[in-house]
Amino acid sequence: MTSGEKIKKILSVAKEEKRSYVLEHEVKEMLKEYNLDVTKEKVCKNVEEALGAAKTVGYPLVLKVVSPDVVHKSDSGGVKVGIKDDDALKEAFAEMLTAYNSQFPPESLKGISVQEMVQGEEVIIGAVNDPQFGQMLMVGMGGVFVEIFKDVAYRLAPIDKREAEEMLKELKGYKLLTGYRGKAPVNIEALCQALVDVSRALSELPEIKEMDLNPILVSDKRAVVADGRIFI
Ligand code: ADP
Ligand code: MG
Repeated sequence: MTSGEKIKKILSVAKEEKRSYVLEHEVKEMLKEYNLDVTKEKVCKNVEEALGAAKTVGYPLVLKVVSPDVVHKSDSGGVKVGIKDDDALKEAFAEMLTAYNSQFPPESLKGISVQEMVQGEEVIIGAVNDPQFGQMLMVGMGGVFVEIFKDVAYRLAPIDKREAEEMLKELKGYKLLTGYRGKAPVNIEALCQALVDVSRALSELPEIKEMDLNPILVSDKRAVVADGRIFI
């Protein structure tokens, strides 16, 4: 399948299932086609499969529910980070299933994602498709910076590398990226490239109504998409 066909397929599956949004693992599949760095992961149906996936993904890892019924996964016990070995995986897997089945129809669960755990500063990339202006790209520092300080920058997509850098420099939290209190600076270049690549995806995919990549984890090496939602 070509890149365009893969993306069409993901979007058409969402439409067939009458979903207005694309699930996290599908968002990552789409973004991979635009060269974004995403977590290594596998959606697993049972614990045996999860133990197998852990061999490829490596410990420590993250477990997440994959379901059209769950948009905000951590609100319903659907995210467990820092799972350190096979025993912890078995326990967390069982707990997650129990929590899911007590809140949602069991048959709606698509699986549990066994996901690479990554480190870094939390950054958010978002977008809204404005009927008047088109795809508006947003970037902000994660956590309290976005929630309390509304520390974000906007540009119309697509943008180039220089514009991506300008966006980041507008953020009050930019200092968190350039190294502070003995912390190593993050790979700003990789983050700028991620912004450029997301902006290209946005301008080529008008079906995207809203995008929320939260978080992107940026270290001195990589800028990795760890979670994502797209509304179509
Ligand atoms: P939600 O649907 O609740 O937004 P997320 O997938 O964003 O769920 O996970 C919740 C939090 O867990 C994230 O904000 C991040 O702090 C942490 N997290 C999620 N995935 C990873 C990962 N692959 N590596 C490290 N931390 C992660
Ligand atoms: Mg999230």
